[in-house]
Amino acid sequence: VWQRMQKTQPAQTRNQALGLLYEFQHAAATPLHALRQIAEHMAIEMHAGLMTEGKSNLLMLPTFVENLPDGSEEGLFYALDLGGTNFRVLRCLLGGKEGRVLKQEYEEVPIPKSLMLGTSEELFDFIAKRLVDFVNREGEEYRIKNKRPQQVRELGLTFSFPVKQLSVKSGVLIQWTKGFKIADGVGADVVTLLQSAINRQHGPKIDVVVLVNDTVGTLAGGRYWNDDVMVGMILGTGTNACYVERDLPSHAPSKKGEMVINMEWGGFWSSHLPRTYADEQLDNESVNPGQAGYEKMIGGMYLGEIVRRVLLRMAREASLFGGPVPAKLREPFILITPEMSKMHADESGDLRVVAKILRDVFGVQKTELPARRIVHDVCDIVTMRSARLAAAGIVGILKKIMPDAFDSGTSGSLKTLHRNSMVAKRGDSGKIVLAMDGGLYEHYTQYRIYMQAAVNELLSEAQAKRLVIQLSKDGSGIGATILAACHSQYRGQSHK
Ligand code: BGC
Ligand code: MG
Repeated sequence: VWQRMQKTQPAQTRNQALGLLYEFQHAAATPLHALRQIAEHMAIEMHAGLMTEGKSNLLMLPTFVENLPDGSEEGLFYALDLGGTNFRVLRCLLGGKEGRVLKQEYEEVPIPKSLMLGTSEELFDFIAKRLVDFVNREGEEYRIKNKRPQQVRELGLTFSFPVKQLSVKSGVLIQWTKGFKIADGVGADVVTLLQSAINRQHGPKIDVVVLVNDTVGTLAGGRYWNDDVMVGMILGTGTNACYVERDLPSHAPSKKGEMVINMEWGGFWSSHLPRTYADEQLDNESVNPGQAGYEKMIGGMYLGEIVRRVLLRMAREASLFGGPVPAKLREPFILITPEMSKMHADESGDLRVVAKILRDVFGVQKTELPARRIVHDVCDIVTMRSARLAAAGIVGILKKIMPDAFDSGTSGSLKTLHRNSMVAKRGDSGKIVLAMDGGLYEHYTQYRIYMQAAVNELLSEAQAKRLVIQLSKDGSGIGATILAACHSQYRGQSHK
């Protein structure tokens, strides 16, 4: 980069742009020793959050989910998955152990930005209308299997925000994240909000039978196919994880002594997290300043925005793109992560894709190759940091749930997993499977590579072999239909 810049830009500008790049790279670095500390800290905060009922930066929310699917679930179920950039409605016909998922359909609808900042009634009316339209289009082939009183449709609601659950089908919103800010939603029971909106549509009878976080839906969706799934995780617009906790504190509302815990790990904080000026600015100007610090370094909603802020500084202080600062570069959230990942994936010698996206997104008509290289490097740094921090979080969870096998970072003696009903029913592979959903993980190849590499650095070879990270595509929605089956009022009765 340096030599190329020497040829094309005045010396002072070159120095400044590269200086800013190195400064950022240094501030955003995630050396192995820091990742180890973060993993350790994550495990400690998990304990603290469980013991203090969420008075730690990890809420560690009890989900009341004590039954996970085993494949025997049957019947027609719906789900509504709300919480990121889109919401989805799904229907799924489950055929028991032999048939499994007989048929499924879904529809995805982008959530208008204005609804993220309006009232809860507006948001839920919008959603309920689309849901009812979708249910009304249910084909004959589904109806045959649904001979229930008054054709009741049972629905699982996946709601991807922190919720204090009061039961498996009720819970109040603790706070918004990911750019949502609807004042009257906080403190409200989200199932009541949805159920009332559905009723206002005067459509078919739809009962919300289970309320879950998207991580919990993903865990359930993964478990449906694989007994070794113990962790559910999202790397999408936001980020979070849940897992099966067997060592519950006495105050936990559990009948069985084990329950899925929604960590809300986006709220995690540690002094070892590499915070830069771009993170500080982003946080200050966000709708939830001071909150979700870990999520703001990891989530797909934020990565492009961090890159934009770094580029803006380079444009201002080192005229990275020559001339005045392009106006669009000042516009928050204009660089979305999918575009950033395209720049990052550009392998052409002259970084053509980078040039095109800089033109399309920021209106920068002409860029020199050295500037493009800097842009590419910034994308790389931000992505690598996110992936490595997520990897450290995963290792923290492993340390908490299987201290015998994953503590101290040495291979040690790998004791057998404790196994009981919910931890795993018949699997005895010694594997621990993490079911993953979310666009960041699904669509960003380099992200997955960086994350797995960091996991491998943090674990011994034997440990790393036991961890399987499995993409559970759309797991958060399908899992909610399956959990609705687990919690159906009609469970045990034949639907055929
Ligand atoms: C929410 C979590 C959710 C995660 C992934 C976070 O912003 O607080 O509840 O699981 O995003 O969607
Ligand atoms: Mg989602």
